[in-house]
Order: sequence, then C-alpha cells, then structure tokens
Amino acid sequence: MPDISKFKSVSVSTDTHSKLLSLAQNRFEVPVSVQKVIEFLLEKEIKRKMVDLTGKEEVKAICPRCFGNGFIRMQAGCSLQTNCPQCDCEGWVWLPAERCRMNIEGGIEPRWMKSGETI
Ligand SMILES: [Zn+2]
Repeated sequence: MPDISKFKSVSVSTDTHSKLLSLAQNRFEVPVSVQKVIEFLLEKEIKRKMVDLTGKEEVKAICPRCFGNGFIRMQAGCSLQTNCPQCDCEGWVWLPAERCRMNIEGGIEPRWMKSGETI
C-alpha cells in the first residue's frame, strides 16, 4: 500500500495504459515503472513550456563569466579564486530571453556561450 500522503492515483483508459506500459518497457535503457514514465513526460513538458526563448523578457541564465560556478580563477594556473563580479557569486544572471539558448542539459545560457557542446 503506497503512502497516501505522498501518492495519488489517476485513472487512464486501457489504451493509454498500454501505451504507458510500452514506453516503460522500451523508452529507456532499462524497463521502468509507469509512474516513472509519467514523471519523465511531465518533467519534459514543464521544462519545454516554461522556457520561451523568443521574447524580450528576462530569463535566468547561466553566468557566462563563471559558467555557473559563482567564482572565477584569478588567472590560468593560479589556485586563487575570487567571487564572480558579473553574477555576484550567484552563478546565474538575468538576460533577455531572445539572447539565450537552451543547452544540451536543458539549462539556459547566453547564445554565445555554447558550453560543453561540439557541433
Ligand atoms: Zn558568474
């Protein structure tokens, strides 16, 4: 019996349920539960909806100066670190949406940054 304070059940048609089962068996490297499939799809949908990178409104983007670390090295090879002056050690900055892009991990970064990608 699942903990009812943490879980709620939903009803879906048998057709939908068999599609969910099929995804659960085949969509991932290992078979997962139907519950995981729903969580995965929901997460993806929410991420997609939340990020509209076409407008002029500001979005939270990874800081291009410290790459989200919140601190930067004083100079190459030096172990001294200093708080990032651009983001004030937050690791992110507000930028107009149209100047940002989504990186492969689903994070938002300035268009010119292109972290960790080889295109
Ligand atoms: Zn920074």
